Amino acid sequence: MKPAPFRYVRPQTRMEAMEALARYGEDAKVLAGGQSLVPLMNLRLARPKVLVDINRVAELGTLERRDGVLILGALVRHRQVERDVRVTEACPILSRAAAHIGFPAVRNRGTVGGSLAHADPAAELGCVLLATGAVVVLESTDGRREVPIEDLFVGPYTTCIRPEELLVEVRVPVFGETTRWGFAEFTRHEGGFALALAACVLHLDGQGRVAAARVAVGGAGPVPVRLREAEQVLQGAPLSEERVAEAASFACAVEGYDDVHAPAWYRQRLAGWLVRRVLQQAVGEEM
Ligand SMILES: Cc1cc2nc3c(=O)[nH]c(=O)nc-3n(C[C@H](O)[C@H](O)[C@H](O)COP(=O)(O)OP(=O)(O)OC[C@H]3O[C@@H](n4cnc5c(N)ncnc54)[C@H](O)[C@@H]3O)c2cc1C
Repeated sequence: MKPAPFRYVRPQTRMEAMEALARYGEDAKVLAGGQSLVPLMNLRLARPKVLVDINRVAELGTLERRDGVLILGALVRHRQVERDVRVTEACPILSRAAAHIGFPAVRNRGTVGGSLAHADPAAELGCVLLATGAVVVLESTDGRREVPIEDLFVGPYTTCIRPEELLVEVRVPVFGETTRWGFAEFTRHEGGFALALAACVLHLDGQGRVAAARVAVGGAGPVPVRLREAEQVLQGAPLSEERVAEAASFACAVEGYDDVHAPAWYRQRLAGWLVRRVLQQAVGEEM
């Protein structure tokens, strides 16, 4: 099918993009990589009256490391997250997760900002960025706000981004020498969306105890979630089989959902298994 008719604007700067969003409000949609929006428009599940194509806004495509933070512009493509040495060195979990997004053609076009704004519950970047403690920067002609990633997702395919706001960048804390991490997902076939996925980022102290932990699960429920009870269980001691098993048990209680691919109980069980797996990865499986 072909999309419903729409107006097309192609701003050259961030300010022009925000002015277009302010002018057209809910009638407008941002076009980034088009990997989710264009199929939805072709199926006429999305019928924006105006498309604001941000691909010419060079300042949204920058990637830099500054003051212990990796700053990914909204237009940074998944392929760059997968391969750029600044990402693989500063936040290797992001590169590992990006390599699991769809297929190379999808990764060449799809963007960090588009993935977060689209808010698919099973998207790799949303879950992994939750485990890193990233902050998302939103801008409109009225100003700028920084939103912790756990506040971004409010439901399946729904975020707190207002129609007039542009997601401009994501700020991710750079990993240190004692940061450990794990990422795992379960898909029915290569390149497919995950039925469930999990990520963890642990900071160890000088004695090998977990000083801080963030554990996230995606795909199992309507939004990616942080397992705060699991994080508490992990804190203050070295990882042991018992602690890992107890932490993983909290994943089995996440809100699940049924669809044609899997029932809720199955996704919850998968999530528990994946949390166990990522914690084992984080400590090199030496327990
Ligand atoms: C065959 C196929 C397989 C895929 N597999 C996976 C997968 O395994 N894992 C996965 O995570 N994704 C997968 N995707 C989706 C892909 O990762 C998309 O890149 C992503 O969901 C959307 O990014 P995009 O840049 O293409 O955004 P677009 O499609 O251009 O936009 C998506 C939505 O985000 C909004 N938006 C985009 N950028 C901004 C911004 N800067 N500020 C505010 N709003 C914005 C748009 O208005 C739109 O509502 C797959 C897609 C395809 C076609």
